[in-house]
Amino acid sequence: MKYQRTYASDYSTPNFLIETATLEFSLNPRETIVKSKLTIKQNHLTKHTNDLKLDGIDLTLLKIKINQQSLPASSYELTPNHLIIKDVPQNFTLETTVSICPEKNFHYTGLYLTKGNFCTQNEPHGFRHITYFIDRPDILTKITTTIVADREEYPVVLSNGNLVQEKEIENGKHRVTWQDPFPKPCYLFALVAGKFDAITDSYVTKLDKTVTLKIFTEGQYLNQCTHAMEALKKAMLWEERRFGLSYDLDLYQIVGIDDFNFGAMENKGLNIFNNKLLLATKDTATDDDFKNVSSVIAHEYFHNWTGNRVSCRDWFQIGLKEGLTTLREELFLEEEYGTTVGKIESIKFLRDKQFTEDAGPLAHPIRLSSYIAVDNFYTTTVYQKSAAVARMLVTMFGFTTFRNILSTFLAKFDGKPTTIEDFLATAAAITQQNLEQFKLWYDQRGTPRLKITDGIDEQQNYYVDITQIHPLATKDFYIPLVLELINGQGDSFCEKNLLVTKNEERFYLTKVTEKPTVTFYQNFSIPMEIDHSYDPDELLHIATYAKNPLNKWQASQKLLTTFLVASYQTQKPPSDLPPQLLELFKNALHSEELDKALLAHMLEIPSENQLINSWAKDIDMEKLHRVREQLKLALARALQADFLACYNENNSQAIYEVNKAAIAQRMLKNIALDYLAQLDSKEMLNIAINQLNQANNLTDLNAALAIIANSSLDERELLLSKYYQRWREQPNLFNRWLAINAAIKLKGNVERLKKLLSYPEVSLKNPNNVYALIRTFVTHNLVNFHAIDGSGYEFLREQIITIDDFNSSLAAATLATAWINNKKLNSTLESMLQRELFKIYQEPHLSTNLYEIISKRIDPAIS
Ligand code: ZN
Repeated sequence: MKYQRTYASDYSTPNFLIETATLEFSLNPRETIVKSKLTIKQNHLTKHTNDLKLDGIDLTLLKIKINQQSLPASSYELTPNHLIIKDVPQNFTLETTVSICPEKNFHYTGLYLTKGNFCTQNEPHGFRHITYFIDRPDILTKITTTIVADREEYPVVLSNGNLVQEKEIENGKHRVTWQDPFPKPCYLFALVAGKFDAITDSYVTKLDKTVTLKIFTEGQYLNQCTHAMEALKKAMLWEERRFGLSYDLDLYQIVGIDDFNFGAMENKGLNIFNNKLLLATKDTATDDDFKNVSSVIAHEYFHNWTGNRVSCRDWFQIGLKEGLTTLREELFLEEEYGTTVGKIESIKFLRDKQFTEDAGPLAHPIRLSSYIAVDNFYTTTVYQKSAAVARMLVTMFGFTTFRNILSTFLAKFDGKPTTIEDFLATAAAITQQNLEQFKLWYDQRGTPRLKITDGIDEQQNYYVDITQIHPLATKDFYIPLVLELINGQGDSFCEKNLLVTKNEERFYLTKVTEKPTVTFYQNFSIPMEIDHSYDPDELLHIATYAKNPLNKWQASQKLLTTFLVASYQTQKPPSDLPPQLLELFKNALHSEELDKALLAHMLEIPSENQLINSWAKDIDMEKLHRVREQLKLALARALQADFLACYNENNSQAIYEVNKAAIAQRMLKNIALDYLAQLDSKEMLNIAINQLNQANNLTDLNAALAIIANSSLDERELLLSKYYQRWREQPNLFNRWLAINAAIKLKGNVERLKKLLSYPEVSLKNPNNVYALIRTFVTHNLVNFHAIDGSGYEFLREQIITIDDFNSSLAAATLATAWINNKKLNSTLESMLQRELFKIYQEPHLSTNLYEIISKRIDPAIS
């Protein structure tokens, strides 16, 4: 009973609609008073009921009126999560006054304080912590918000929509009214009040509307907002150009804060951002940070159509808004920073995180069939897999048709809550295709595999045989695939689009006399594994001759992975490197033609997380780590001169710029440095020290510092503490420093983490500290986290229990999910993990969120 499950199949149309809401906040950290006046009517689409059930948690009800008449206590019932009013009329106004306590809110959902400023986070269920409401995404309401606050303490007072009035009132207060002309679900409501400064700019839409753009932050960060502002204008232009979609209000505001559970939130006309994803200058942000700021700025902006104007009917449809938004974010980023790298990075992300999730206990389809806490399902499946699935429509039907599908869908459902079916029905109508089979991608969990073999028949026809393998699916997937064929002379002579729709299918491609080498990764966005056996010569052939850069990259990754898997199994240290690998690396390191970003990615050994996916089970994490490190070292030994030449050539002294070419050059250089540092010689480590001392940007400095932190250098600790002193007062830099510390692979690093927890700058109440210190440890320090003495698990268990007490979403979605995903551990690790999970499970006040995650992993035999 305590842990109630919500089922997709239980959806029913709401009995009541809230047409308008007039809210008035009297802000005070200890006791904020929220007055609400709702105009409510019975929904003529549903059966008549007289009882109105509103959501509300941790609210103290002070007054309640219907049609201006106070309600006697006998006409309503209060439960911990609801207010139920009996016998309401057809149409009425409901007025409530409640009090809430923002200063005690550390779950950071609803109204809370960050560094003394007020802000909100309402997706998915925050609004019920603010006032009584029907808190579900299919209730769309026009909201007007008045905020009364002390003028000196809270000079900036914001909400959604347009400013309609601001006036000074008694006792040094001001009273500010905002009105949003667009009906919206209450999860898009936002309020911000406090001491902020802003940069202002404007954008003229193609309909000639001038939109004022503002980014608010605390004063000391004001000079770090330029990149975000530029990215916003680019995203606005891009969406008009590529999709014909323009912004609809006169004002677009963004506020950056330091305490936020996620990256950012798309509240209508008033986005709230985690400063980590908003602020960027060359001295405070790496190239990746710059890119992440661009993506998230674009992502939240693109939600204005997918999510805000057209919203989701229920939380089972989040994959619809998140997928369509994430796909546009990815396409935007590819145009901005390079298509090849963009695609490679999306695929890497899928393989690193989504494939792992989909193979573990948390595996779920894009559209879940049930959940206990929906906060646990803002996952890579819901974001990246659904973007990849939407991108398949682009691959199948072309960009123009996709654009047409999207704009037709948005026009048809403007102002309405929608479902995945609504979207697919629009796509089917436009393409004249039956997309029933395609829908499987949304409702089936797990990563499908394609087994591919090829050959030549008697008539000299080249064919490929494709078999779909999916242990769970009862139907076949609909899979668009683009093949590239390369002959023995290195001519890439054929490119072919295939649509695989059956479980077993043969495709004839071309007439040939000799069997070509086939590749599959062009345009690849498919959340799927491909089994096709290649020998190392073929992989080298592809890496050398493929036209499509993704095929080249894929070949290098496959060569590296195959070798690693083999040396893990044979226990032999990988000193005898295959000649193909050496040749591939040599070619790449000296290539004059290839894009440097592509080269950098080709030279990168797949991450430990990704490698886990190449093993069936029983992984010894220590050994996995060791084998990967040994390969790095062997490559560094064999190619020292080549890496050094690459480093020197790309170690540019030019002024720092954030553009494709400069980013690629830095990436390549820092990969070369990382290999060289494996040699652990004074000479090579001096290169890192020089880079640390001379860097004119954080990308290079960060790369050097991370290398030094993992080295055997005597001055390691000294250098680390130098940057602690330098960065401790700047949260983004300090968190970076924590993350570098948390990722140190030296044995017993968990002791360092424990020490860091007691630093005055570190607080578990600050989600960015938790991400930097704890989550980094869990996701990027597998060798220490899965230490055989159990110290990593024990540490995490303690932190999770502490955090769950005040911020269950952080404990569950940020920490516990990352822990339980790996289901391939060997028996020693597995039984230790079970023991720790069980301790959490037995906690008397376990939150719903955490319960849901832990119970998915805990061995039923133990519990
Ligand atoms: Zn989103």
